[in-house]
Amino acid sequence: MMSESAGRLLARGIKPSPQRVRILDYLAGVKTHPSAETIYQGLAPELPTLSRTTVYNTLRLFAGAGLVLQLLLDETEARYDGDTSPHGHFRCRRCGRVFDFPLAADSAPPRLRAGFRLERAELNCVGLCPACAAGPAGADRPEALAPRGE
Ligand SMILES: [Zn+2]
Ligand SMILES: [Zn+2]
Repeated sequence: MMSESAGRLLARGIKPSPQRVRILDYLAGVKTHPSAETIYQGLAPELPTLSRTTVYNTLRLFAGAGLVLQLLLDETEARYDGDTSPHGHFRCRRCGRVFDFPLAADSAPPRLRAGFRLERAELNCVGLCPACAAGPAGADRPEALAPRGE
């Protein structure tokens, strides 16, 4: 029986190799908006032949096909989201976690001047998550900015 991920790949004309299917499955199964490196680390134990280059190329392929969102939430690395439905993102600048939030149904569309054709709009916020905001004042530590496992 073909997996749902394999079907989604075929529907976009992408050959459903086992590695591609597992990468799409991985993104469908997490809410953490992982980086390519995190995805690689998560799948390498079960896919010994997987390379970082394959992960990067596969993510680029998926993003181009609209299967995943590539989020440029900070300048250091892209994060990936298997949920392509409209929603906003909040990145905690202290722990690096990325949270989803719903967009208000009555959100006003961007006020673009005539001649612009909108294809994608994103709402990306930065601040402190509840856990970090409740932490001790002045707890900003450089090592806390590194991505954490969950
Ligand atoms: Zn935080
Ligand atoms: Zn998201």
